[in-house]
Amino acid sequence: MIDSARLQLPEFMPGSVWLVGAGPGDPGLLSALALHALDHADTVVYDALVDRRILALARLGAGLDYAGKRGGRPSPSQPDISARLIALARDGKRVLRLKGGDPCVFGRGGEEALALAEARVPFRIVPGITAGIGGLVYAGIPVTHRDVNSAVTFVTGHDSNGELLGAVDWAAIARGSPVIVIYMGLRNLDGIAAQLIAAGRAPSEPVAIISKATTPEQRVLVSSLAEAALEARASGIEAPTIIVVGDAVRFHPALDWFGGGPWPAPG
Ligand code: SAH
Repeated sequence: MIDSARLQLPEFMPGSVWLVGAGPGDPGLLSALALHALDHADTVVYDALVDRRILALARLGAGLDYAGKRGGRPSPSQPDISARLIALARDGKRVLRLKGGDPCVFGRGGEEALALAEARVPFRIVPGITAGIGGLVYAGIPVTHRDVNSAVTFVTGHDSNGELLGAVDWAAIARGSPVIVIYMGLRNLDGIAAQLIAAGRAPSEPVAIISKATTPEQRVLVSSLAEAALEARASGIEAPTIIVVGDAVRFHPALDWFGGGPWPAPG
């Protein structure tokens, strides 16, 4: 139990929902509010990306309710999940809706919060460390660095059907963003890289693929825009992965404080 009085944390009221970011994996990256919510929740409704070590921190006796969403696999629909949160809250439970990373970064936190607001269920949103920031730090890649970039783009590599997003203007991103951080991008990396190169990015530009960032299984594959998709397939690197395009990747060998070594070359 954390000292909630000392930290002046709000009471987790029965009949309310806390929409909480659990961070990318390392339990040490949980916020005090997230730990407080784990200490007091009656039910934890969690996603596939929430680390097991974090779930293990839930109050003894708390119900654990899997609401997994993962590309390509059948999962409960978003309206079903929102309805479940509302029903649990109306039943007087302290409902902890736990999501990987930050709930509002490609996590549908906004959609769930809107459903709660519409149903007049009291809720709070607790930010978490998103994979596109925390994952990069654990790979020794600064998301901004003087002389490298004064802008960064966070972009999703596919839509809810797994297709490359037609809605993303890759050419504009290629021109305007020296560093590009791609969520859910592994499957479409061929197409993404081709579009960035077509828009003028150098085929030799460095790319890092960070797998299972901040966990003991973290792996970092460093490649180039031209080769990354091929090398990723050859290496068998596993989801979830966050992909970084840009010169910030060049810091990885010098700043790899967590990983201690490159992804082993195949063969
Ligand atoms: N809300 C989450 C993102 C959900 S979308 C966040 O803020 O981090 C899911 C995508 O996030 C994955 O496909 C992957 O691109 C990225 N991701 C989440 N956790 C990750 C991790 N530990 N390592 C690498 N990528 C991760």
